[in-house]
Amino acid sequence: MKKEILDYLNNNRSKHLDDLFDFLRIPSISADSSCSGHIEEAAQFLKKEIEGLGFQTEIIRTSGNPLVYAQTTIDPSKKTLLFYGHYDVQPVDPLELWKSEPFNPVLEGTTIYARGASDDKGQLYSHLKAIEAWVKTGNEIPVNIKLIFEGEEECGGHAVYEFTENNAEKLACDAVIVSDTSLYNAQTPAICYSLRGMSYMEIKLTGPSKDLHSGSYGGAVQNPANALCEIIAGLKDSRGHILIPGFYDDVVILEDDERKSFASLNYTDADLNRETGAVSPFGESGYTTLERMWARPTCDVNGMISGYTGEGAKTIIPATASAKISMRLVPHQNPEKISEAFTAWVKKICPSGVSIEVINHHGANPVMVERDGAMLTAGSLAMEAGFGKKPVFIREGGSIPIVGTFKSELNAPVLLLGYGLPDDNIHSPNEKYELENYYNGIICTATLLKTASEV
Ligand SMILES: [Zn+2]
Repeated sequence: MKKEILDYLNNNRSKHLDDLFDFLRIPSISADSSCSGHIEEAAQFLKKEIEGLGFQTEIIRTSGNPLVYAQTTIDPSKKTLLFYGHYDVQPVDPLELWKSEPFNPVLEGTTIYARGASDDKGQLYSHLKAIEAWVKTGNEIPVNIKLIFEGEEECGGHAVYEFTENNAEKLACDAVIVSDTSLYNAQTPAICYSLRGMSYMEIKLTGPSKDLHSGSYGGAVQNPANALCEIIAGLKDSRGHILIPGFYDDVVILEDDERKSFASLNYTDADLNRETGAVSPFGESGYTTLERMWARPTCDVNGMISGYTGEGAKTIIPATASAKISMRLVPHQNPEKISEAFTAWVKKICPSGVSIEVINHHGANPVMVERDGAMLTAGSLAMEAGFGKKPVFIREGGSIPIVGTFKSELNAPVLLLGYGLPDDNIHSPNEKYELENYYNGIICTATLLKTASEV
């Protein structure tokens, strides 16, 4: 990396922080319709910033929130990188648990606190500051750059999917860069190569037409709450193995080298207990905790509703019972197929005396991207330059559904270069972003613009 680019970044640290704070001040909560003006404001903020870099920039109107799209003049002799990020943020409640105002960013020691600091404004903004360093020092960027930033990642919108499917040529690239994940830990940079998908279901059981006196009718009719427990008990055995027939059919078996590389991270039971406050780890036998979190599917009750839950005792047989259940899926499970298998199974094991309805709320495909190849090498070198250490290759338990769409529609490798930390409190009160990660992320992206041109 050219010294003058690094010098520029060093000399502009405080300005780059001020600029990020301006971005973080915009309350662009996509789930809250009263914030739609701020969604527009965030899109315009990005447009103005990117125009300042000399890019052709447009705001693309969609059926949902606007997309910000920009590109350099395309030189066909250069490789092309497409950067993706989202400018919308999660809601802030419960507000009383925040130590500072979520949209009044503060620097406490070496930590930035604000909603969106890590997810994803801080990470997205690293890319713009990296580009700025090349442009403002008068250096020709050795790759073509395309930028696409969306405003409905946090509310499940479809605009960016539709746009990608309909504009594959416009978005054509040699690699997609997504910075919306995290380092493995504060000392260890990581490149993520697999994300879990999801099938989200709800079971509704109906018994008597109204809550009944449990003395008068108890023992004579099926109790929907009891029946629901029977069904839930039939989803998984005591060793954590999911009992839905066919559930594991398409699961990609963990390779030996993956198991070795996960094991080398030395993630312990004590680490898990500390992070979660859990009493002890629990899960499918035959797999380590990291393997279960990253590479094995799950089936978990997210919530149950039935009967009397108020103070004291009320003696009833409830009329209804329901449960929301999520299944995290791994490559190459198919959400539709899993939802169907789930529905068939719970209907089969549903006890008599209740009627059952099964609702499929939403699904997301799991995704696995390349673990090697030229662009991965470029990404790895950039991470090392930014964070001072070779990255480890990890999977993630969560989902970023757009990654699957980029992979299939653009037919390009997707690099998940995460600059956040696992404990950044994303989606929670006191979201944070470490100052060093912000600056190191900028160096990483600035380096990538060069390393990608050389591989
Ligand atoms: Zn995000």
